[in-house]
Amino acid sequence: MNKKRVLITGAAGFLGSHLCDKFVSEGFNVIGMDNYITGDKKNLAHLINNQNFEFIEHDVTTYVKIEGNLDYILHFASPASPIDYLKIPIQTLKVGSLGTHNLLGVAKAKNARILVASTSEVYGDPLVHPQIEDYYGNVNTIGPRGVYDEAKRFQESITMAYHRFHGLETRIVRIFNTYGPRMRLNDGRVIPAFMGQALRGENLTVFGDGSQTRSFCYVDDQVEGIYKLLLCDYNLPVNIGNPHEITIKEFAEEIIKLTGTSQKIIYEDLPVNDPMQRQPDIALAKKLLDWEPKVDRTEGMKITFDYFKSLTEEELYKSEHKDFSSYINK
Ligand code: NAD
Ligand code: UDP
Repeated sequence: MNKKRVLITGAAGFLGSHLCDKFVSEGFNVIGMDNYITGDKKNLAHLINNQNFEFIEHDVTTYVKIEGNLDYILHFASPASPIDYLKIPIQTLKVGSLGTHNLLGVAKAKNARILVASTSEVYGDPLVHPQIEDYYGNVNTIGPRGVYDEAKRFQESITMAYHRFHGLETRIVRIFNTYGPRMRLNDGRVIPAFMGQALRGENLTVFGDGSQTRSFCYVDDQVEGIYKLLLCDYNLPVNIGNPHEITIKEFAEEIIKLTGTSQKIIYEDLPVNDPMQRQPDIALAKKLLDWEPKVDRTEGMKITFDYFKSLTEEELYKSEHKDFSSYINK
C-alpha cells in the first residue's frame, strides 16, 4: 500500500533497465519512460508483466505528464555512446537541457527527489588526474563531443539552480565508464565494439596508439552506488566508477585473451577530443555512501562476454550503427 513510486527515464537503455530491476526488487513501484532512440524494448521485456512496473513511451524533451504521486525521479535518458551522440547531436543537447528542465519541473510539481545522470565527460580531457569532484574540467565547447559534455554540464547547472532557488531535493551522479549485459552490441563503445569484433572474427580496432586510459565499472556496482546516492543526504556531484585504470591497448589485449580470438589489434584514427586519461577519485563516495566497487574486471568482463555470446546471429551481424532516421526532426 505504501510503496514509494519512482520514475526512471532512459528505462529501455543499458543503465536505465538495470535501475528498473533494482528498484522493483527493492519494493518500489517503477514507471519506466523511454522513446527507444538508443534503447531496446528487449531490455524491459522481463518487466512488462510485473505489477510493480509500468512503461510510458515518451520523448522527455516534450512536456512530461505523470498521473498521481511520485517520490523519486532518476533522469537517465540520453544517448551515451560517442558514436550515438555524434549521429544525433541535437537530440543529445535537447535531452540534457530541455529534457532535464521538464523532469525538474515534474519533480517540483510532485515534491519528488530527483537524481540526474551526469558523466565523467564533464571533466573533458582532464588536466587533473585522477578526477576529483572539485575539478572544473577541460571541455571543448565546440568540438564534436561538446554536444554531450555541455548538455551534461548544463544539466548539472540547472539541477543545482532548482535545488538552490526552489529548494528541490536533488542528486547528481558523475558516472565513469560502466559496462555489462544489455549494452547495445553496435553502440560503438569500446567494450561492445571489441567483443563484437572478437565474436565476428574481425580485428580489434584500437583508436590512436591505444595509450589513452579508461577505468571500467561493472553495472551492478554502478547501480548500487546510484541507489545509495539517491537515498543519502547530499546535493553536490558524486563520482561513481571503478578506479582500476588501464590503457585501451592493454584492454584490447585482455579481450583477445578472454575471448580466445585469433584476430589482431589494428590501429585507427583517434576521435577528436578523445580524453587521454580517465580515472575516478572515489574518496567522496566511499566516505558518504560507504560504497566501493566489488566486481573486478576479469569477472565483469566474463559475464558481459557471456551475454554477448548469447545474442542471435542476426543481432551479432547487425553491426552497422542504429538507424536514427525516424527520430530526426521529430
Ligand atoms: P543507453 O543509450 O543504453 O540508454 C539511454 C536511454 O535513453 C535509451 O534507452 C534511449 O532510448 C533513452 N533516451 C534518449 N533520449 C531520450 C528522450 N529524448 N526521451 C526518452 N528517452 C530517451 O545509455 P546508458 O549507457 O544506459 O546511459 C544512461 C545514462 O547514463 C545517460 O544519461 C548517460 O549519459 C549516463 N552515463 C552512462 C555512462 C556509461 O558508461 N554507461 C557513463 C556516463 C554517463
Ligand atoms: N575505442 C577504441 N576502439 C573502438 C572503440 C573505442 O579504441 O572500437 C577507444 C576510444 O577512442 C576511447 C576508449 O576506447 O579512447 C573508450 O571509448 P568509449 O566509446 O567506450 O567511451 P568514452 O570513454 O570515450 O566515452
